[in-house]
Amino acid sequence: MTELIVVVGAAVLRDGRLLAARRSAPVELAGRWELPGGKVEPGESPERALVRELREELGVEAEVVEAVPGEFPLRAPYVLRVWTARLVDGSAEPLALQDHDELRWLSSDELWDVDWLDQDVPAVREVARLAWGV
Ligand code: C5P
Repeated sequence: MTELIVVVGAAVLRDGRLLAARRSAPVELAGRWELPGGKVEPGESPERALVRELREELGVEAEVVEAVPGEFPLRAPYVLRVWTARLVDGSAEPLALQDHDELRWLSSDELWDVDWLDQDVPAVREVARLAWGV
C-alpha cells in the first residue's frame, strides 16, 4: 500500500471571515477556489507545512489554531487535512501567481458564492460548522 501524503489546507479566519484563494493552475483547476496550502514535505509536521505554505503563497506569518475534524480524500496518494489559522503579520496577497490569482475574505453569508474545488467542499463545510456553528 502506498503511503498517504498529507496536503494541508489552511482555514485562515479574520474578523469572522474565511480566506479563499482562486487557483490559477493547473488548467483543470484554474478558476476554482480552495483553502490555501500544499504538500507536507518529508520530515515536516503538517502544522509547520501550513505556516510555510502561507508564508510562501501569501506572504503572511500565521499561527495554527486548531485541527478541523476529518481527513478529506484527494487523488491518491494525497489526503487533505485542515487547520484553522490566524494571521500574526501581513495581510495576504497572492504572491505565488503560479498557484493563485485572487483572494477573497468570505463572510458566512458569502461562503458558497465561490466555486470551491470539489474536494475542498466537505472541508469548508466542516470549517463553517467549527467557526460559525452553521
Ligand atoms: O499546492 P500543491 O500543488 O502543493 O497541492 C498539492 C495537491 O493538493 C494539488 O493537486 C492540489 O490541487 C491539491 N489541493 C487541494 N485542496 C487544497 C490544497 C491543495 O485539493 N485546499
